[in-house]
Amino acid sequence: MVWDEDTRDAAPFMTKPVAHHHPPIMMQAGFIRPMDLSGPPWGIPIRVTPFKAKHSSDVPNAMGMVVELLDEAGATQVRLGYTADTEYFDELAVHLKDCHILIAHISQPTNEELKSSTQGKKDHLGYRGTIRLMKECRPRLGLIGEFWAGFADLRIDLVKGIRSLSGCEEVFPAGIGMNIQLPGGGIQCTECGEYGPAKQIRVSPPTDLFGNLSYLCPACQLG
Ligand SMILES: [Zn+2]
Repeated sequence: MVWDEDTRDAAPFMTKPVAHHHPPIMMQAGFIRPMDLSGPPWGIPIRVTPFKAKHSSDVPNAMGMVVELLDEAGATQVRLGYTADTEYFDELAVHLKDCHILIAHISQPTNEELKSSTQGKKDHLGYRGTIRLMKECRPRLGLIGEFWAGFADLRIDLVKGIRSLSGCEEVFPAGIGMNIQLPGGGIQCTECGEYGPAKQIRVSPPTDLFGNLSYLCPACQLG
């Protein structure tokens, strides 16, 4: 279970102790540094490089991170970027450059953002911040999450726009039931369970309001 102290303190109803498989990782908010978990006591071939994110004032310690999956020689096999909740800022693309997979929290775009390409969003990436990040980082696979969807389910429409305006074709709305194969970055078809290249996968909207998206391989689509 991934759980940070700020969230734990803010959500006292989740006080049941968690059984960890490994010693918990302590990332100091005021002293951000890379952590290599390959050695003892963890023995997990992962390097985590957190960075300070720019979220609302009630979450002063917000952090994004890059997680590198390492091979036995300690070389990076997969570089995975995670924005967490943050608004766009210039160094964000520097922190997240060269990622194979980039996970970005978009949140609900404002009306102003949808009308103007120069309008940013406070506290979250929003539509324009997500486009800018994808355009600057150009990951092999972009995954968009935290749509919020308080007004409408815009997941597919927003990602269509992000693809078009960022020039990155391999961007997908992430969702429950979406599985990614590592290190290759293939996406699992939610119908047959086979993994296929991201560019062959088509996303279909849910049949019920705000339901799960389907990720379909060519064999499972009826053209
Ligand atoms: Zn299939």
